[in-house]
Order: sequence, then C-alpha cells, then structure tokens
Amino acid sequence: MRYIEPHAHMVSRTTDDYMAMVVAGCKAVCEPAFWAGFDRSSAHGFYDYFCQLTDYEPKRAAKFGLPHFSWLCINPKESEDIKLAEDVIALIPEFLKRDNVLGIGEIGLNKNSRNEMTILEKHVNLAAEYDQLILVHTPHLEDKLKGTQLIVDMIKSDSRIDPGKVLIDHLEEHTAKIVMDAGFWGGLTLYPESKCTSPRAVDIIETYGGDRLWMNSACDWGVSVPLAVPYAAQEMRRRGYDDETLDQVFYQNPVRFLSQSPNFNIGK
Ligand SMILES: [Zn+2]
Repeated sequence: MRYIEPHAHMVSRTTDDYMAMVVAGCKAVCEPAFWAGFDRSSAHGFYDYFCQLTDYEPKRAAKFGLPHFSWLCINPKESEDIKLAEDVIALIPEFLKRDNVLGIGEIGLNKNSRNEMTILEKHVNLAAEYDQLILVHTPHLEDKLKGTQLIVDMIKSDSRIDPGKVLIDHLEEHTAKIVMDAGFWGGLTLYPESKCTSPRAVDIIETYGGDRLWMNSACDWGVSVPLAVPYAAQEMRRRGYDDETLDQVFYQNPVRFLSQSPNFNIGK
C-alpha cells in the first residue's frame, strides 16, 4: 500500500523509524510544530526549532527518499505566555517562504484558557493574511469537547477562512460530528494509550464517511507508534475494505487536503 503520514513529530524519532515508514509504503511525512517535551526559554529556541523543521529534518528524511513537510506556530501549551507567543508569531512570516512549509499548525487549545484563545486568534489571523492552510490541535480528555467547540466557533466566525482549508485533529467519537458538520476536515490520531485506537478510528470513518477525514500517528517523544497509520489500514483490510478504499483514505484524502498548499509536491 501507499500512504501519507500527515502528522508526525519526526525530530524526536530515530532513523530506524524513517526506514520502517518507508518500507511500509509512506510517500510523504508532515511535521507540525509542537511542544518539545519541555518549555523553551525564549523565542530564539523557536527560531532554532523552525530551522530544524524547515532545513535539517527534511534533509534527514531525504536520506530515506521521503519528502518532509512542516507546519509552523507556537503550540498552545507554551502560548500561555503572551509576550513569548507574540515574539514567536513575529518570526513565522519569514519562514513561510521556505519551500517545505504547508501552513500554520498545530495551533489550538490545551487548557482552553483565555491566553490560549488570544494566541489562537492571532495564528488564525496570520493564516488569513498569508493565505495558509491551518492545522489545529484539540485538547485532551475532559477539556476536549469544550475546546473543540471553542475552536470551531472561533474559526467559523472569521469570514476570511475557508473551512475546507482547515483540519481539526485528534477527533474522537464525541467531537467528530461538531467538526464535520461545520465543514472542516478532521484528523484521527492513533495512540496506544490515549486518543484513538485503530478500531475506534475505523468506526468513526464508517459513521461519518471518509471524505474529509485522515488518520495520523502523531508519533513524538512519548509512547507512540510511527507505523500506527499502516496498522489502521490493516484493521480496515480485516473488515473487508478493498485496496481502492484504503488508497482513498490513507493516500488520496491527505493528498487532496495538503495539495491546497502550493508547496505540497510529492511527484506522481
Ligand atoms: Zn502533534
């Protein structure tokens, strides 16, 4: 099979992971900017991280023949510090000129705080000004439903943003409908300990249809599985889906969304 890994934090993974993904059929990997497992002490830390995402990591992936793309932002966890967040957002326009950048992400909410909402709005404004795609992280556990609704309402209220150019990630059974009904794309994140398992993700696709949904591993420095996407494909195969359907869900769908960025070019 061929597939796209649309959300993976490869800076925290090994070269063995790259090799395993390529052998499993991965044709491109996309890396949103996120928390690094620790809070950075200044905007300079983000400058270096954006260089890593737009320069060093694409070269590391290229050693395995894998196109690497990135998304830029300050994540909601660190955007509680408004001054830091504003300094980081000011760095982003310069990096949008780099040829592997797909848009603004993963922005969103962590604890649904007022400061997080302020910085989310500033990111959405940046995306509108520079005509960028948006990738959104939704909160965990008890904060997820409220946070997802806040995010949907906020983005919908900005008439400059086309919902078809926004993907809201980490959906679960109780949040998928809100996102789908609002016309956004949705992401199902496959995690061994939280978020979705493969059977749950396939159930959600069966409930809402596969047109505007993708699956990702979101693999990072924590307990996560870089091959979670092809494992989920195996779950669909087990349920009797044919190769064409698998290709649509795991390859054609992400390509359709990501190709709205002129920088997403993986050859054919
Ligand atoms: Zn992530």
